[in-house]
Amino acid sequence: MSGKRASVLDSFSFLDVDKGFMARAILEYPWETTALGSIESWHPNLKSMVQMILDNPIAMYIAWGPEHTHLYNDACLSILGNRHPSSLGKTSQEIFGSDWENVQPTFDAVMTGGSMMVHDFKFEVAPHTSGDSNYYNLAFSPIRIESGKPAGMLLIAKDVTAKKRMELALAQSNERLSFALEAAELATFEYFMKDDSILANELFNSWFGGDGAPILTLEAWLEKLAKPKAALVAAAINDCSKGQEGARFEIDFETPEGTEKARKEMRLKGLKLPALGDRSPRVIAAIEDITAEKLEQRKLIESEKRFRLLADSLPEFVWIADAQGASIYWNKSMLEYTGLSEADVKLRKGISIVHPDDVEANMKLWNNSLLNMKDFLFEHRFKSKEGVYRWHLSRATPQFDDEGNVQRWVGSSTDIQSIKDKEAHKDFFISMASHELNTPLTTVKGYVQILRETYMNGSDDLLNMSLKTIDKQVATLTKLISDLLDLSKIRMGSLGLECTEFDVRKMLTEVVCSMSHSYPDASIELGRVETLKIFADECRISQVVINFITNAVKYSHSPAAIRVSSWIDEGQLIFSVKDDGIGISAEDQKHIFERFYRVEGKSEKTFPGFGIGLNIAAEIVKQHNGKIWLESELGKGSTFYFCLPVSSSFTLGK
Ligand code: ADP
Repeated sequence: MSGKRASVLDSFSFLDVDKGFMARAILEYPWETTALGSIESWHPNLKSMVQMILDNPIAMYIAWGPEHTHLYNDACLSILGNRHPSSLGKTSQEIFGSDWENVQPTFDAVMTGGSMMVHDFKFEVAPHTSGDSNYYNLAFSPIRIESGKPAGMLLIAKDVTAKKRMELALAQSNERLSFALEAAELATFEYFMKDDSILANELFNSWFGGDGAPILTLEAWLEKLAKPKAALVAAAINDCSKGQEGARFEIDFETPEGTEKARKEMRLKGLKLPALGDRSPRVIAAIEDITAEKLEQRKLIESEKRFRLLADSLPEFVWIADAQGASIYWNKSMLEYTGLSEADVKLRKGISIVHPDDVEANMKLWNNSLLNMKDFLFEHRFKSKEGVYRWHLSRATPQFDDEGNVQRWVGSSTDIQSIKDKEAHKDFFISMASHELNTPLTTVKGYVQILRETYMNGSDDLLNMSLKTIDKQVATLTKLISDLLDLSKIRMGSLGLECTEFDVRKMLTEVVCSMSHSYPDASIELGRVETLKIFADECRISQVVINFITNAVKYSHSPAAIRVSSWIDEGQLIFSVKDDGIGISAEDQKHIFERFYRVEGKSEKTFPGFGIGLNIAAEIVKQHNGKIWLESELGKGSTFYFCLPVSSSFTLGK
């Protein structure tokens, strides 16, 4: 600080440099370069006003003299930001620049003796602060001198930013609320009990006010609603208005013909609000147009009704289960047959109608379907209310929602008892016929044998040839009848095994030898064969091999080339019969071991057979706990396999 300044301080010590930042700034400012002149020459009123503002924590500002030279206190610094120090000692014109025209009338008014208030004045805060705009309430008052005339003015700025921001936020949230109400197409109103008046939003008035004219009383609105519901709505609002604060109600009503919303269905929800400040207690309410929703509901009920009507008119059983597999619906014929009620079904009593012997397999398959979301297909016996079991074939398919989740299962069960009865009759007939045919055939076989032994080497060629042919045909017939006998034994569950220990190589050698004898044109070879003794039904195992070889001959172009092998692999004794015959398509391979399955085609028709040989073979292998399969390609030959588990019952031969 220069010596001159120090002397200024000495003589005019009204400013205490320690008072703050602005005290020092004002002291050090070259006032002599301004209209105010040096501090020493200042009017005492200016001096005391400067002292007053520097003492004050509220933002204060002085504009003095004809040019409104500016001075301000520390509290103004946060408002001015980087506009300090350039604003100090400047004139209004310099400070306001092009804005001066707008501000000047205010200044002029104050300088002629008036006071002024400006509310919520928006002032951009300097960049080094929050960068936002702040709001101030400004009070302008003249500073007079002895003559009574204003020589300057005092400006007090009160920061009202927080309040203003709250107001703005409130306005925005109100805007958002009314937008949400508009978007949700909610008509709303407030009902003031003290004078029965209502204050509604635009949508409400457009729905109920006819030409959109506002509805002002509850009574006027209620008149627009369809009777008798209007009375219930009135009662609901009335009860709520008399209830505790926070009381709520919900009620559906309709609008009558003639209004813009003719025959619309609506839902009204209301809430009682307590008195708040100068607002009296009231009920606020929102109305939603639920016509479309109700229509959908009715459509759903209608379609449900139609489905039930259809399902109930069917003699078949129709049922629905939820995604977890629990029955939720049985049609009429199913309820009538079982004697269960709808409530029983929902209480999961459904499984009680399944025959005890079928329950385990039933549940296993059903759970498997539920887990894999795959169709269910099963034959089981259902108990009637009279206690009689009848066979049914049940099918169920999952229904999926848009996300691919199972919504429910729709199932049907068809009575197949008559089919089962027919099958039983057929089985009975096959069993009877094969037994009845077997007796005379055995006799014929015996006599053919005697005749062959007697006349075989005679000179009668015709007799020789005839006897040979008869013998061959009798063998074919014997095979067919013995297959039929086996089949009925399988159906009756009486294909018992007679297991003994036997030599696999010896058995196969004998089979190949005898088959070569029967089919002299075919080349039947023994390939790799294990030297092994096994414990099994020798007769039945050779029957399987014989069946494979017979088929290989039958379904080959002559001369057939057939190879029979047997080896051990991964604890299994595997048998194979390979041919270079006509082969089997992939589709036919899937069914080849089914009963009575024969491949459709010209060449097959020329061969005798019922399509039961492989079915019997499969059953024999199954009873030995083994597996049967094939590899084949159409036109390129087939290899049939079966394997038996190598267990303690198998002994390696020497
Ligand atoms: P079938 O008495 O008709 O021969 P099988 O049960 O033994 O009855 O055989 C079923 C069907 O499988 C046959 O009709 C035939 O079409 C087919 N098949 C069986 N073995 C062979 C094979 N080695 N080559 C081609 N087709 C075969």
